Amino acid sequence: MPLDVRVATSMAEAAGLLAADQRTKLLSGGTLVMRDVNEGRLLEGTLLRITDPAFRQMNTSGARIELGAGVTMAMVLNNRDLAYLHAAARAVGGPAIRQMATIGGNLFAGTPYGDFAVALLALDAQVMVQSGYGSARAIAIEEFLNSRERGSSGLVTAVQFARPQNAADFRFYKVSRVKPKGLSVMSIAAHLPNAGGRISQARIAYGAMAPTPVRARGAERALEGKTLDATGIQAAKAAALEGTRPATDAIATEWYRREVLPVHLGRLLTGEGH
Ligand SMILES: Cc1cc2nc3c(=O)[nH]c(=O)nc-3n(C[C@H](O)[C@H](O)[C@H](O)COP(=O)(O)OP(=O)(O)OC[C@H]3O[C@@H](n4cnc5c(N)ncnc54)[C@H](O)[C@@H]3O)c2cc1C
Repeated sequence: MPLDVRVATSMAEAAGLLAADQRTKLLSGGTLVMRDVNEGRLLEGTLLRITDPAFRQMNTSGARIELGAGVTMAMVLNNRDLAYLHAAARAVGGPAIRQMATIGGNLFAGTPYGDFAVALLALDAQVMVQSGYGSARAIAIEEFLNSRERGSSGLVTAVQFARPQNAADFRFYKVSRVKPKGLSVMSIAAHLPNAGGRISQARIAYGAMAPTPVRARGAERALEGKTLDATGIQAAKAAALEGTRPATDAIATEWYRREVLPVHLGRLLTGEGH
């Protein structure tokens, strides 16, 4: 059977069609799916498009942010309320890719892709997943990424997170060899809320340091109650590698990634990151 294309006009319909046939695949921005088609890895089944406007809806002005899974990186970059996410959106490919690449698709992109998902992990996002015709349920992004590794699926309809109280407390840093469009040697996102300069409940996430984006729990613990001075930053750097299991790929070796992670984490924390 050749490849077929279907259009769902509602997210419920799309979720139902995805659940009914394992060979039905969502075509969101298509930057990865169409590469599989063009390169002959995806030859059969149904590609499903969603025309429901809610899939691309954004609520960005309140304390709770909701971004439809079909929102593209370009849409994020065009939204001033989301300035704290611009570095993460700009880290995804070049301008043509960013016009198409969606937030939902980024949650499924294998390492070293998934730069935007790293930012969402540091923001403690909830991923709204609809399986079949039921209503969408919220899954913590960390659990979602772990279950992705185990191969479970459903339609991601949106992501939600609390807006950082202070945009300057949110930082994103991508390390790549080719600028501006290179793939990640690694990416690091950090949400560093503080009271009187002392860090409280930091969330730090790495991309390309494990098969999925992961939390930097050692560094988070090391920063608790500390100020971002030389002592605090040194403690975070010393604990930077906890929980990481990077791969060797065409971009960098596992050894190199481990060697340079503490250096780049230090740069992000001192504000030298870009
Ligand atoms: C040249 C090039 C450069 C790139 N550079 C980067 C980069 O620097 N950083 C980076 O992070 N990525 C990069 N990517 C990868 C990719 O463009 C992004 O990760 C993008 O966000 C994927 O989104 P998409 O909408 O295009 O996904 P698609 O190709 O539409 O889908 C990808 C997979 O996710 C599934 N999927 C998508 N949306 C949903 C949903 N809502 N619910 C359930 N399943 C879904 C699809 O079925 C498919 O299996 C690059 C890709 C290319 C081709």
